[in-house]
Amino acid sequence: MVEYLIVGAGFAGCVIAEKLASAGKKVVVIEKRNHIGGNAYDYYDEHGVLIHKYGPHWFHTNSDEVIKYLSQFTAWIEHKHVVKSFVNGKLYPFPVNRTTLNLFFNVNLKTEEEAKKFLNRLKIKFDGAPQNAEEKALSLVGEKLYNAFYKNYTAKQWGVNPKELSPSVTARIPIRYDENDAYFNDKFMLMPSEGYAKIFERMCKNKNIELLLNTSFPVPFEWKNLIYTGKLDELFNYKLGKLPYRSLKFVHKHFEKEYFQVCQQINYPNEHEYTRIVEWKHATKQVCNGTSVMYEYPVSLEIGKEPYYPVLSKESLELAKAYKKLARNKKNIFLVGRLAEFKYYNMDQVILVALKLADKLLAKN
Ligand SMILES: Cc1cc2nc3c(=O)[nH]c(=O)nc-3n(C[C@H](O)[C@H](O)[C@H](O)COP(=O)(O)OP(=O)(O)OC[C@H]3O[C@@H](n4cnc5c(N)ncnc54)[C@H](O)[C@@H]3O)c2cc1C
Repeated sequence: MVEYLIVGAGFAGCVIAEKLASAGKKVVVIEKRNHIGGNAYDYYDEHGVLIHKYGPHWFHTNSDEVIKYLSQFTAWIEHKHVVKSFVNGKLYPFPVNRTTLNLFFNVNLKTEEEAKKFLNRLKIKFDGAPQNAEEKALSLVGEKLYNAFYKNYTAKQWGVNPKELSPSVTARIPIRYDENDAYFNDKFMLMPSEGYAKIFERMCKNKNIELLLNTSFPVPFEWKNLIYTGKLDELFNYKLGKLPYRSLKFVHKHFEKEYFQVCQQINYPNEHEYTRIVEWKHATKQVCNGTSVMYEYPVSLEIGKEPYYPVLSKESLELAKAYKKLARNKKNIFLVGRLAEFKYYNMDQVILVALKLADKLLAKN
């Protein structure tokens, strides 16, 4: 009998496999795709440019533990992730910072204090806590910025009116009062120097790990402990109903010029069907002829097939809770990762929960 069966070879599955295997445990990892790495998988396209197959993955974290752990498998490139938003024919720093406020409102805010006061006057106050994603955004940035930068982007991204989404969807909006134009404000903003796929290859290179690609759960052999990183509703054969997901369509293009756009990511909230254009070379710092870019279009799960983003609403969170309760009743099933927990996790967050679960499993033995 297999002692540990791990379903899915993304960050959640591979971190746990690596930790258990390094402690001498035998594990079997199954992965339904023909490669490891989950959604962080990258590869060289036909023009020799390193691209991310399932959408751009910019690495950032405040966790020393995550950096220490991953640095066993990769060296890093320091990289400031810069994103701009195309609004009314102009490019603005995004997330909104003091430069965005000055350019958009044609004002001259000189200090953080001035910017804070200015933004505070724009914010809309609600009686009680904001009830949905629109109210949450209005409470953070006010109507004008919301309409220009967030409203259509959110509607396009999720395929529903922001009023129907949980406040947590827009609660993540970062606002800067200085002129810092880095997309994230974390202690570490990096990219793996040889790409993500190499990290996974090195993690899985352990004689105690048996890796079965093109293999889906359930499996025709017995197991003692199941570490499951696939879709929560699928595990229970959708018996309580389907959890909603938003999918994506990626259109790749190549140009015979050094660069296509001024930074790694430009958001298009309003006029276009796509939400963003990403140019890989800015982030990977790859030196090569030509450049490849990717246009990202949000689509329904029926069209895109891959469940990229959990659609968080009151109803979907209730349903996920009911499925998790079913899992808790089975003492040898452990749910971990963005699909199994029905959570929007960044890579570093998944790594942290996976490390914690690996420790718990090892302590149990
Ligand atoms: C478009 C997009 C952009 C993102 N950008 C960033 C970013 O810039 N920075 C950041 O920190 N995070 C980003 N993320 C989040 C990041 O992708 C996740 O945090 C991370 O991939 C989660 O790892 P995971 O192992 O939980 O899931 P996944 O990477 O999805 O891995 C799960 C694996 O399980 C496999 N699987 C599922 N069901 C089964 C089954 N039944 N049998 C066998 N195998 C199965 C899947 O094929 C998959 O390989 C982004 C996510 C998306 C969708």
